[in-house]
Amino acid sequence: MKFVFNPVDRVTLPVVGSDDVFPVGQIYCVGRNYAEHAIEMGHDPNREPPFFFMKPGYAILKQGEQMTYPSLSSDVHHEVELVVALIGGGENIAATDAMKLVFGYAVGIDMTRRDLQAQAKDKSRPWEAGKTFKHAAPCSAIVPIATSGEINSGAISLSINGDERQRGDVNQMIWKIPEVISKLSGLFVLAPGDLIYTGTPAGVGPINSGDKVEAQIENVGRLNIQIGEAA
Ligand code: MN
Repeated sequence: MKFVFNPVDRVTLPVVGSDDVFPVGQIYCVGRNYAEHAIEMGHDPNREPPFFFMKPGYAILKQGEQMTYPSLSSDVHHEVELVVALIGGGENIAATDAMKLVFGYAVGIDMTRRDLQAQAKDKSRPWEAGKTFKHAAPCSAIVPIATSGEINSGAISLSINGDERQRGDVNQMIWKIPEVISKLSGLFVLAPGDLIYTGTPAGVGPINSGDKVEAQIENVGRLNIQIGEAA
């Protein structure tokens, strides 16, 4: 038996302090997980149940690479987020067991076609057109939790051309990482390689061609990308 076509290799991310690479599986994202961001988007900052959306593996853009400005949008926004990388999986995982699944952390940006997302919200349609496109998920190298320790607090920020646009602290997450993993595993089948973008602090705004974007999370790392021309 042979394949009808050669299966596409998985996208990989480098691992800090190692020659190993991390093969990326599914990419899950948490919506409105910082109160100040929920408020700036016009929503109740109280602890509503978390909700999720996904991006495909091909959305990954690595450290130092250039992002193609996506098609059919003139309002692409940055959302800096702590990314959790899983080395375990399963279903219905208790929050108390969730950290055993974590391989490490990275600095990510949940790039969003805000205009298309707004249209989807208006019509009660799914968010994929807003959240999924080539280069929609820039992500740094992964720092193993064995090196970083558990990341429960620390500054998270993003600047464009040297001007700071977003700043918060990872400790401001409404739903903490073990709770997020537990809730996700109640809905979906988690697996080694999955990434979880855990939500963004306040200050989201547009990116433009030519911008140099730098995102940083204390004790996790740094991500630099450049915004290229439109697709
Ligand atoms: Mn987000």
